[in-house]
Amino acid sequence: MTTVSAAPAQRHHYDAIVIGAGLGGLLSAATVAKAGGSVLVLERLPYVGGRFTTVQQDGCEITTGALHMVPHGSGGVLAKLLRSLGLPFTPVPRSVYASFFLDGKHFIWKRRVDLFGILGLKASIDLLKILFQMHFIRYLGHHESFLDWLHKQSDEQIVLKLFERFSHFALSIRPDQLSYEEMRAVLRSVFHYGFPEIPVGGCKPIVEGLGAFIASRGGRVLLSTQATGILFDEQLGRVCGVRYRDRHTGEVQTAFTRRIISNAGPKATAALLDGAPAGVASVPAPFTAAAGLKLHIVSEKSLIPHNSIMFCLDTQRISGIVEVSRAVPSLVPPGMHMLDTFQVMMNDDVAMERELALRDLRYVFGSDFDRHCRVVRTSAFRRAWPVNHVIQGEDPDDQEPVPGLVMVGDGYKPTGHIMVEGVAASVQSIAHTLTQP
Ligand SMILES: Cc1cc2nc3c(=O)[nH]c(=O)nc-3n(C[C@H](O)[C@H](O)[C@H](O)COP(=O)(O)OP(=O)(O)OC[C@H]3O[C@@H](n4cnc5c(N)ncnc54)[C@H](O)[C@@H]3O)c2cc1C
Repeated sequence: MTTVSAAPAQRHHYDAIVIGAGLGGLLSAATVAKAGGSVLVLERLPYVGGRFTTVQQDGCEITTGALHMVPHGSGGVLAKLLRSLGLPFTPVPRSVYASFFLDGKHFIWKRRVDLFGILGLKASIDLLKILFQMHFIRYLGHHESFLDWLHKQSDEQIVLKLFERFSHFALSIRPDQLSYEEMRAVLRSVFHYGFPEIPVGGCKPIVEGLGAFIASRGGRVLLSTQATGILFDEQLGRVCGVRYRDRHTGEVQTAFTRRIISNAGPKATAALLDGAPAGVASVPAPFTAAAGLKLHIVSEKSLIPHNSIMFCLDTQRISGIVEVSRAVPSLVPPGMHMLDTFQVMMNDDVAMERELALRDLRYVFGSDFDRHCRVVRTSAFRRAWPVNHVIQGEDPDDQEPVPGLVMVGDGYKPTGHIMVEGVAASVQSIAHTLTQP
């Protein structure tokens, strides 16, 4: 952290400076702009949206992270926050709840009751008992992992696999990595807010809509511009500005503010505060990130007959596949189809994880995979570009660890709020501080 001893000249002064134009940064900046505040957004990449947008490759639009899914669709926190800004959230109607691939067969879950037919009698009873208990038992009195608790409730393999693959796909962690209480909070969010939906046009129109909203309210969004240090005013005892560098020209500038919102994640923000004077709080960053692997597949043939998640219950690695082009046809050239697979990375060996994914794809789609499909990109999400900066349930509560420095994003998800709903909820929980003069 760079320190200054006196209040700087009023040049380049903003009500708020946002580091990072991911979904969290954009939602924050839009909230400031809507309240009439001046805001500067710094983004080191040449586009907005972070891990919630697409980039072009081979004539296709490939996601930078998310599989376009908004976990609770039009009922969730993200949709609500967008609506409060006057921005639309228009979902593509879901054709089924989900489907399950098991024992070489593909079961479609179209009506709620279909689930019981798919599971069979004993597993259905176990599932109902589990959901009933999770609805009513809030706290076990000790921090038992969800997996340990689950094993005591059922020995039905299909029930265990169902929860395992939900944890892998929806949270990008193993079910032993989160507590019973957190899984309970997550499932209650599903029942309270609703099932996933894909917005019309996918994730990109949402972040571009936010960028346009900020600009229309006089906000400045600087792309290819990296925040390189956070300034601290020792007299005031709070942050007071950001130093940043244009990645094309190398030019370094400084902008001043009383409020910095960091969307860069705990580790990167802690690095910006490097060298903090003794006695000044720092951003705690010893958290575990969620890592995952995604294969982007282009196919001449449609392989999943719906626009929701196909959970893979007995594959080695892949936990779910979405034929994203069913909901967002513009991702691929006419007549083509795009499938995104997702798996938790069980180790750091990307080649091995990819190989296991390919074996899974041959198991699920048979000869159609080699005949019709091409993997256009394999993306490992870890370290500085993970699935979540902090695994579900371990997010720190303190969103203002240094006076004037507010943290948002998927390292600060409130309990029970997952993925982009967690990002939106992290903004919602500090929104009142963004609208103060
Ligand atoms: C493979 C995968 C699949 C996923 N699937 C889904 C899904 O289907 N549904 C869902 O809800 N979520 C999903 N997620 C999670 C979701 O994508 C993320 O939680 C969310 O996009 C994170 O948003 P954010 O704003 O917190 O962070 P980011 O999107 O990472 O934004 C942070 C921004 O800060 C910028 N930045 C960092 N440091 C600096 C600096 N020093 N100066 C300037 N800029 C800086 C970065 O470039 C980035 O643009 C998935 C993630 C992955 C990786």
